Amino acid sequence: MEHSSPDLLASLTDGETLYQDAPCGYFSCLPDGKIIKINRTLLRWLQYDESELVGQFKFTDLLSKGGHLYFQMFHYPLIKLKRQVNELSYDIYRKNGTFFPALVNTLAINDLTGELLAFNVAVTDITDRKSYETELLNAKRLAEAEKSRFEFVSDFIPEMIWTAEGDGKINYVNRRFSNYFNLSGKSTDLQQIIALIFPADRLSTLRSWISGIRSKHDFELRLRLKDPSGQYAWYLLKGLPFQDENGVIERWLGSCSNIENHIRELEKRDEFVSVTSHELKTPLTGLKASLQVLERTLVPELPPIFAKMVGQSIRNANKISGFIDELLNVTRLNEGQLTLKKQSFDLVELARDCIGNFPTEIIEKLRFSGLNTLPIMADQDRVEQVIVNYISNAIKYAPASEIIELIIEVLENTVRLSVKDKGPGIVPEKIPHLFERYYRADHSGSPYSGLGLGLYICAEIIKKHHGKTGVASELGKGSTFWFTLPLKS
Ligand code: ADP
Repeated sequence: MEHSSPDLLASLTDGETLYQDAPCGYFSCLPDGKIIKINRTLLRWLQYDESELVGQFKFTDLLSKGGHLYFQMFHYPLIKLKRQVNELSYDIYRKNGTFFPALVNTLAINDLTGELLAFNVAVTDITDRKSYETELLNAKRLAEAEKSRFEFVSDFIPEMIWTAEGDGKINYVNRRFSNYFNLSGKSTDLQQIIALIFPADRLSTLRSWISGIRSKHDFELRLRLKDPSGQYAWYLLKGLPFQDENGVIERWLGSCSNIENHIRELEKRDEFVSVTSHELKTPLTGLKASLQVLERTLVPELPPIFAKMVGQSIRNANKISGFIDELLNVTRLNEGQLTLKKQSFDLVELARDCIGNFPTEIIEKLRFSGLNTLPIMADQDRVEQVIVNYISNAIKYAPASEIIELIIEVLENTVRLSVKDKGPGIVPEKIPHLFERYYRADHSGSPYSGLGLGLYICAEIIKKHHGKTGVASELGKGSTFWFTLPLKS
């Protein structure tokens, strides 16, 4: 007759079946160690038949010589003394001579006078646990070896290197760093490092550090540090995150470089730009006014070349004027004089107007996609300047691109405007610098002229609006320059 399911369950969980097929091995021995009962699980593990072991083998016959000795000298006396002895570890031998590591629990069965009659043994196979432990230990050893190898190498590097924990706590600086800044004792001591920072920069540096760590991306920050001569100089700190397989940042690796010369160079350039742009502006305004008068007074009797030359001169004067405005923009930015005149307007309408101002052959390349209307609050002229700059760059640096896309989309509380070309793209190592002032990717031998200021001005305008700028580019495929603006401003 077939078992119904409750019957089957009952038979599988009755005491005898539980004993025989338990997930651990059981056996019982007489005081001399002779095995008198053993369960199926352990027989399977040991690869013996019941008849080969029961009444024939002692527990100690399943052990190594060392195990045998350990049982006699320590374990057995303890059973007699304590009755119950738990979690002793043995290697238990199978019939074929191999063994498995096991944890053994023993419980004495005494008669009424307390004399030992037998003892019961439970055996747990800990092969898996051992292998996890070994893996863990190997991983730890590997990580330690890696760490000392990294420190060994980085101590010989002529650059200053630091590492930090995932939360940004500096936990290592290389020898060059600690020697250069004369750090004594524990060179990663925070107080000691903070003391190097120019006092007025400390709070802002700390803020930038925290936001860099929170960004979970590569970050850079510029700060003044006291160098060995006791003078403050400009340094560039770069941080690079290392993530585990779950995307959690395990640690940061960073550098620290002296950029004093670079900063001085920038200051000199800024000064030159400021002086020349102001000096050129006035005579150019006069020149443009005179040209306009000339244009108005041209009489039809003059040969056509006159009108042509005046027209050309006005166009060239406007071009120079555009350059000078760019230079003046930078000067204003450097002097913190960029003020925004915010007003409410439709960004989509503005973008369409910007497109409309380009020559027809360019308009034919431009494709607009995204929203139909989007009212925002921002400085309309400045935002227009950014859009025109992005589109002009796409036309200038991606001339072969048959289509230039302008996309406006809303992402959570921000609007994002992108200008996407199918041009040559930009090499990855140049991308982080494109928005720096005076930066131009190498165009030697190419026809593109420029001051390397357009994108810097764009970034500053957008920053003032609490937005972000960026670029995604792939060599041979094209570039997408974008900016975002907060929708509630
Ligand atoms: P400029 O055009 O005066 O050089 P910008 O600040 O506008 O200055 O641009 C900086 C650099 O960014 C350019 O020199 C050019 O190398 C690169 N760039 C800008 N837009 C693009 C683009 N759409 N495709 C490829 N490179 C670009």
